Amino acid sequence: MIDILDLNKSYDEVEVLKNINLHIKKGEFISLIGPSGCGKSTLINIIAGLDPASSGQVLLDGKTIKGTDTDRIMVFQSGALFPWLSVYDNVSFGLKNVCKDSKEIKRKVEDVLRKVHLYKFRDKYPHELSGGMKQRVSIARSIVMEPKILLMDEPFSALDEQTKMLLHNELQEIWLETKNTIIFVTHNIREAVKLSDRVVIMGTRPGSIVDDIKVDIPHPRDTTNKDLYYMEKLVFSKLKKEIEKVAREELGDGYKFEKDRFSNDSNNTMGGGI
Ligand code: ADP
Ligand code: MG
Repeated sequence: MIDILDLNKSYDEVEVLKNINLHIKKGEFISLIGPSGCGKSTLINIIAGLDPASSGQVLLDGKTIKGTDTDRIMVFQSGALFPWLSVYDNVSFGLKNVCKDSKEIKRKVEDVLRKVHLYKFRDKYPHELSGGMKQRVSIARSIVMEPKILLMDEPFSALDEQTKMLLHNELQEIWLETKNTIIFVTHNIREAVKLSDRVVIMGTRPGSIVDDIKVDIPHPRDTTNKDLYYMEKLVFSKLKKEIEKVAREELGDGYKFEKDRFSNDSNNTMGGGI
């Protein structure tokens, strides 16, 4: 479905992405994970068509993507809601540009609002909502467009752990129902492993793909699923080198990641951000 071929991106002579090759199948949920500054947002923005590649190609169903399109929709952070519009109007805003049938719009918007548990709150304004509810609105207004691909750049990073857990479950349900292809950027190992079919690990300077790990655990996945812990450990072990590299560049050559902190503890959940 998506083929990224020999993609490179530079800003003012600085190589940000180098030789990215990635193939994503229809209906796949993939996460991009890597240290801060490795080019995750740059890559997802190029896929969205918000930013051009310097060289190489992104193909969607065999056709080169040119700019943004409703077949690829980005779920922006909750702060990107229109504060002067109600929940309903935020969700219907984009749809009104592509659909002129007001009954159809109402049906679709109400259906999506039920999916994200916000139907009761359809007349509220963003300032009346919690962080989790705002992010549900962001998701709703993206999926209401019925895109082929949902692009998510750290959508839950500002939320507390409990809300994050609820949204993970809801996103899994939505994904299982809509069969969307999802590209999900995160720096949270547990989140990546819990949600994705594949975790693509990126390294830095220049940003490149260093590993591609299949997570072969049936969906929907529960946070307490033991197999997830083993996958977390595996992803962490692959990421460790990249994290250390960034820390050395920032803090000096002598820097050493805390000695095998996670390697002998099978109960350690490693919690989160890198
Ligand atoms: P990530 O999302 O993985 O944290 P980004 O894709 O945001 O990383 O950034 C990757 C690198 O590209 C960083 O070093 C950043 O400073 C640089 N960069 C991103 N956008 C621009 C831009 N518009 N102009 C110049 N440099 C940029
Ligand atoms: Mg980013």
